Amino acid sequence: MLKILAAAMLLVTACAAESKQVVIAARTVLDGRGQVLHDTRIVIEGSRIVAISPKAGPVNYDLRGLTVMPGWIDAHVHITWSFGKDGKNAGAAGTSQEAAYQTASNAWATLAAGFTTVQSVGAAGDLALRDSGVPGPRVLTAIEPLVGQGEKTGTPEEIRAFVRRQKERGADLIKIMAAGGMRQGAMTMSQQQLNAACDEARRQGLRSLVHAYRDAVHGAIAAGCTQVEHGLGASDEDLKTMADRGIFFDPQAGLLIETYLRERARYAGTPFYPPAPEGFESMAEILPMNRELMRRAYRTPGLKIVFGTDAVAGAHGRNAEEFIDRVRDCGVDPMAALVSAQSLGAEALGMAGRIGRIAPGLEADIIALDGDPLKDITSVRRVAFVMKGGVVYKNVAR
Ligand SMILES: [Zn+2]
Repeated sequence: MLKILAAAMLLVTACAAESKQVVIAARTVLDGRGQVLHDTRIVIEGSRIVAISPKAGPVNYDLRGLTVMPGWIDAHVHITWSFGKDGKNAGAAGTSQEAAYQTASNAWATLAAGFTTVQSVGAAGDLALRDSGVPGPRVLTAIEPLVGQGEKTGTPEEIRAFVRRQKERGADLIKIMAAGGMRQGAMTMSQQQLNAACDEARRQGLRSLVHAYRDAVHGAIAAGCTQVEHGLGASDEDLKTMADRGIFFDPQAGLLIETYLRERARYAGTPFYPPAPEGFESMAEILPMNRELMRRAYRTPGLKIVFGTDAVAGAHGRNAEEFIDRVRDCGVDPMAALVSAQSLGAEALGMAGRIGRIAPGLEADIIALDGDPLKDITSVRRVAFVMKGGVVYKNVAR
């Protein structure tokens, strides 16, 4: 009897804990869809927002000195990419204990910088992180990418089997490398192969993200893939067709190249990078090309431009620099830049009903900045408060 009573009491306590409300007071809330709410309170129960009500109380977190908004979504990171023990780029770093700690550290840096969800596209190590419970952003992973290598990419049937295998392993999406580096950028698989990859992804209920430049952009559009990454060399016609067909576009304005230039000594001589730091000079020439593409993309009516930084070693936790690059160097409206990493980013992930907005029913992924990003975009560097799924991970609000 006593045992039953104890069990019942435990149950009551658990229910009470679950229904306990947390209330955030805010003066300015950007709702994630481009609207601004004033002088209100956000009510959270468990992991979700349950109400927006100016009269709710008592207040647990007074964020009235800050700008409150949905946590950011980075649609393209390489969260496992780190520098090794020798200080040099170690790429995806493998499965050593050091690599695991590096990945955990990248995850924490990313979350503390205000990114509550990331899509990691191109290393099997993502999967262990996603399912680990390490403090970090919510992780979506492509596990292993399909790497275009001409004939060797496989027959359409082999490619379809590869896509199904990623699904069985637990992939959230399929990543396809359909072009080489930024410079050469030629298509690395046939149209028929790309068609098979994106078609099979669709049949399996998975999204397809395609690393593409020039011809490959055209190919990804023709294959009906979900999202085009990078996209240097995309024509106006390509951008217009993406807008017409609702294909998401994920170009990068600056952070990636800035990272390579800043960390050139640590990247030099590692696989796929120039052998000496001087070899990185020419990368600076790509920056104006990226900016031109970003400007042109934002001028294309109806084009859904997401926020993907391509964060590699040295860029984790600095993801928000990409907002500054877009606004300062490409003339993008600050609200549009933020929304690309909020409701629009959520839509691109197929998670519009779960994240990306401050609204009842959605996950309580809430951040707050010291400053007004609509007036001063550099305030994205000053993330003072981070809540993910109702849990506060950072609070340096005064
Ligand atoms: Zn990438």
